[in-house]
Amino acid sequence: MKFSSERVETLPPYVFSQFHKRKKELEAEGLDIIDLGIGSPDLPTPEFIVDELVQEVYHANNHRYSPYQGSAEFRQAVADFYRSNYEVDLDPETEVLTLIGSKEGIANLITAVVNPSETVLVPDPGYPVYQSAIHLAGGKTALLPLIPEEDYKPNYQSLPQDILDKTKLMLLNYPSNPTAGTVNIDAFLEAVSLAKKHDIAIAHDAAYGLVTFDDYEAPSILQAPDAKDVAVEFGSLSKSFNMTGWRIGYVVGNRDIIQALSVVKSNTDTSQFLPIQKAAAKALRSDFSTVNDNNAVYEQRQDKVLCALKELGIEVKRPRGTFFIWAKVPDGFKSMEFSELMLEKAGVIITPGSVFGPSGEGYFRISLSVPSERLEEAIKRMKVLEGGV
Ligand SMILES: *Cc1c(COP(=O)(O)O)cnc(C)c1O
Repeated sequence: MKFSSERVETLPPYVFSQFHKRKKELEAEGLDIIDLGIGSPDLPTPEFIVDELVQEVYHANNHRYSPYQGSAEFRQAVADFYRSNYEVDLDPETEVLTLIGSKEGIANLITAVVNPSETVLVPDPGYPVYQSAIHLAGGKTALLPLIPEEDYKPNYQSLPQDILDKTKLMLLNYPSNPTAGTVNIDAFLEAVSLAKKHDIAIAHDAAYGLVTFDDYEAPSILQAPDAKDVAVEFGSLSKSFNMTGWRIGYVVGNRDIIQALSVVKSNTDTSQFLPIQKAAAKALRSDFSTVNDNNAVYEQRQDKVLCALKELGIEVKRPRGTFFIWAKVPDGFKSMEFSELMLEKAGVIITPGSVFGPSGEGYFRISLSVPSERLEEAIKRMKVLEGGV
């Protein structure tokens, strides 16, 4: 007897699990494996946020169900953040919704917007969760080509007309996982005008919106005029405030899309624990100095890794956002082969680019969200490999 549904059965296998199985085997042999595949910050949540949670958790009023759409206080904090950071006005009642992490929101959004067998455009290479969520919702995926030479901005010109005609929803993600690609506002102007012309909804995943370097500031898609006619933007405290385990995020923008999503959610969950929403509101109302401190740590790690890769003959442009390095594998290697070699010969896990889509072939991703000493040790081992690759 098989109890799992066809949709679950036909989900493509999770490639990371293969590496983790091998990691366990090697560790059982006593080897020390350094995992640069992890996409979750190693740094702790800032103390002022933890303190707020601890205080609020003692109030019995906070132990009840949250309103379905999230607490008014958190939604107001999101709206105020958009006003001060992006000069975008949002109605916290209709244009902001609290999420139990943006992953939840993105998965439920697809159910809320897409009918079975309708097409969703996803960036290639892109975050693999998009395709699984589309598959589970019964939708069809079409790949949105990106331009590596232009920091992975979308290549709309190469999309066939029939794909544009049947696309219901387009997912974008800048700063991008896995490519660390970033855009300026003109990429969003182009996306919005295309979406309006072809009746496409846009969901922009801004999980790394605050993880940026130097004087680059990642734009919000809602800064594009008329964006609210077609677009929503997902935000998360996971990466910017080191709060992955807390499960708190938000979606903002087009009220019809948000309304549809809130119907799915109110039948699925009852929002997040109130003390977590309160602590997250405090984070969004902070001066963002903790975010800047984090970014400075990532930047130092970036320097080290870029320098080491250069010595290995792998040139990479310094990314303006995310805690990822996206680099070409040495000539003659496939992504998977090179990643396997790294694990077997250096005891370092890197992520093969091919797991992020067909255009990821030929690349690998390194995550900088590991303690600096471990990163340095990984670099040392990679250099030992130098002769071999
Ligand atoms: C980490 C990540 C998310 C998930 O964030 P949560 O808010 O923790 O669910 C979403 N999108 C991308 C691209 C990510 O890398």
